[in-house]
Amino acid sequence: MDTSQYIPMPDCPFCGVFYGASPRVIIDEDKFGEMVHITCLACHRAMAMQVERNVHCVKSIGLFTDCNARDYKHFLHSKRVTLDDVLAVHEGLHR
Ligand SMILES: [Zn+2]
Repeated sequence: MDTSQYIPMPDCPFCGVFYGASPRVIIDEDKFGEMVHITCLACHRAMAMQVERNVHCVKSIGLFTDCNARDYKHFLHSKRVTLDDVLAVHEGLHR
């Protein structure tokens, strides 16, 4: 079985409907696999899945999200918020 293009799609964990033709967007990809955002057509809830491939198997890990695909891509590559950032905002608001 050629797994180079296969993306495992479970049923929607919220409503149990088969994802089928639900819109899926590849957010990011590298030589090991890709990050896929999928929105359920039945309940409109979204999940991001990290799909990884090797010669023996395909595996995926899902994460529920409130972000749409565009926002998820934006935040995936954004700088992380640090404690210094939080303190800077606090001090800026305190002035
Ligand atoms: Zn659903």
